[in-house]
Amino acid sequence: MINYTPGPWRAIRQAFAWSLENMVGDVVFSSLLGPSSSHEEANVRLVAAAPDLYETLAREHQREYETKNGAMACQGFGEECDVCALLTHVERGSRL
Ligand SMILES: [Zn+2]
Repeated sequence: MINYTPGPWRAIRQAFAWSLENMVGDVVFSSLLGPSSSHEEANVRLVAAAPDLYETLAREHQREYETKNGAMACQGFGEECDVCALLTHVERGSRL
């Protein structure tokens, strides 16, 4: 399991920077505003949604392939399954 600041995160635009904060106000990340981009706000909001996206994907994949004894039974676990490959990528920073 990846060790990150628990979500949900929210994107907050300040005078000269964007910040991502969790629900108790801990700053997860901040970045000075650069040249304005039409994608800037959408990009920050997408990053802010990362914990929810990651947790939902991992939970739903586990639910889909969980056996009756709770073991993971995805046939492509770790290599061939696109979802497992993506989760591994996020957890280890490896390339897809
Ligand atoms: Zn899988």
